[in-house]
Amino acid sequence: MGLYREQGIVLRTYKLGEADRILHLLTQGKGKVRAVAKGVRKPGSRFGGRLEPFGHVDLQLYEGRGLDIVTQAELLTSFTAVREDFTLSACGSTMTEAIDRVAQEGERSNQLFLLLLDGLRTLARVPLTPASVLDGFLFRLASVAGYHPQLDACAGCGSPGYHAVFSIASGGALCPACAPADSHPLDGSVLGLLQRFSGGNLSTLADMTVPPRARRAAGAVVNSFLTYHLGKPLRAWELVPR
Ligand SMILES: [Zn+2]
Repeated sequence: MGLYREQGIVLRTYKLGEADRILHLLTQGKGKVRAVAKGVRKPGSRFGGRLEPFGHVDLQLYEGRGLDIVTQAELLTSFTAVREDFTLSACGSTMTEAIDRVAQEGERSNQLFLLLLDGLRTLARVPLTPASVLDGFLFRLASVAGYHPQLDACAGCGSPGYHAVFSIASGGALCPACAPADSHPLDGSVLGLLQRFSGGNLSTLADMTVPPRARRAAGAVVNSFLTYHLGKPLRAWELVPR
């Protein structure tokens, strides 16, 4: 028990009692943290508007038995632009929902933290194709969480090269010999997009000139892949205009 300091990103908040709020935070050093911000809903609260969803904050917390208690919060980046735009906010909410599902309490999670920060920063630059930034984020998140989608070799037999059938259950692309007889090969443009989703900086996905049909098809693959591994669909994903 005691005080500790962490950088965190607010994943979600919900009301507690008359004036308090429970926060789910992703921190660098302690993974997911559930904490109470006391009096945060009272006018003139010392936390002001610093503990809103997507906010990147420097926190001081007191370790509690169940929930920790926020004692100080300093805002590093508010990501207001993401919160106030419908599409960006739907993408950001899907990101934080997915992180909330994947992150573990008390487990260092630097990679997740940096990925989420990269995701929110890329959205804050108001990309042309925010849904693709989200899809890239989710594919990378799957990798960090231990479900790396295999795209540059057959997920069944390992034969190298890019194969056109994507199998959620096998965890990646399948060669003609491994693919079930009734499977539908993906279009080349969709496969190309999935490859772009699976690595590199998210900012490279910000302004894609790929036709919407291919972007939607690749997004659907990413969503099915995540749903399969997380056990149930991400609720906010449905809200994202595509
Ligand atoms: Zn194979």
